[in-house]
Amino acid sequence: MNEIKEIEVIPILQKLIQFKTVNPPGKTIDAINYVKKILSKKGILCEIQEYSEDRANLFAEYGSGEESIVLCGHIDVVPAGDKKKWAFDPFEGIEHNGRIYGRGATDMKGAIASYIAILLKLKEKNVKLTKKIKLLITSDEEVGMGGAKAALNTDIMESTHFLIIGEPTELKLSIAQKGVYWAKIKVFGKSAHGSTPELGVNAIEKAAELIAKIKTTIPSTKHPLLNHSTLNIGKISGGTSFNVVPEYCEFTLDYRVVPSVNYNEIREKINRILKLFNSKEDAQAKFEEVHIIPPIESNSEIAFLGKLKEKLKKKGILEIVGVTYGTDGAVLVPPNNTDFVIFGPGRLDQLHVTDEYTLKDEVVTYSNLLLETIIELFEEE
Ligand SMILES: [Zn+2]
Repeated sequence: MNEIKEIEVIPILQKLIQFKTVNPPGKTIDAINYVKKILSKKGILCEIQEYSEDRANLFAEYGSGEESIVLCGHIDVVPAGDKKKWAFDPFEGIEHNGRIYGRGATDMKGAIASYIAILLKLKEKNVKLTKKIKLLITSDEEVGMGGAKAALNTDIMESTHFLIIGEPTELKLSIAQKGVYWAKIKVFGKSAHGSTPELGVNAIEKAAELIAKIKTTIPSTKHPLLNHSTLNIGKISGGTSFNVVPEYCEFTLDYRVVPSVNYNEIREKINRILKLFNSKEDAQAKFEEVHIIPPIESNSEIAFLGKLKEKLKKKGILEIVGVTYGTDGAVLVPPNNTDFVIFGPGRLDQLHVTDEYTLKDEVVTYSNLLLETIIELFEEE
């Protein structure tokens, strides 16, 4: 039987939790070396990409075939916060009531343990597949996605038939992810004494007008899985005192974008607003893009997804969703427009929290769902 048992996956998860891959500082090399050790011991090809000091990605592959299925997860975790508030040590991987506790149990060492168990099982049973199964463990997902960016300098994503990103989704299938567009708007006015505002140009008041204009002009586009794109003005600063007409004000735009939104259109819209503003007002405004992550969406008709849907439906837990949080997919998907799913064990209310846990059963179920799908679709006749 090609079945992954609890004992074949949960101890790996517990061991992974014991490596403090907290980011920052983001030292992941020890955990990566551990994964390499257990895979290469069984004869699975592994390679480490140490792209900066103590930070590394791991590539492993099983089988042959021109195209590959890539199983992707990040091994870095967010800080544990105040350890005294934890009921269990965040770096022990303690089991209690069917749960495994620890930082990264949900986000996302559970999925990584599953991937390792899948490769080991395929190897143990010597399953012959028509596609390669690749493992990509990244670092730095929680801080800037440096690992995924470094991975793009290799051939890991070449000829990828399908990408699985095991971020926690409670076993829901997510085939869309919002993008992020951050920009800063700077407004330049003219200072004057607070008692004679008519002699100056109030940059804060002008910024307020601009905010209202931008809020009504930037489209709130609806997506069937991701709901609406959203715009948040998260920070504003300017001025010096009660009695000074402020000569400078700046504010930020945090625009969360659904896949149908085109960044060039956004740019053009903002530019048009500012151009009109600059031609009509005494104040001048400029904008600066700070951080951009593209939205991604997968073709929903692909066979791998079809098979997963079928299996989840049989279990009565099929749900197709989109995610608003970021994943390595934003880096890995766009170059070849790779088809993907964000699909992993772990409750969404367990992301980055104190006493983070994951359900053992869910990790085991996840491992077997993926293993069965791979074998049923790609086993050689
Ligand atoms: Zn994550």
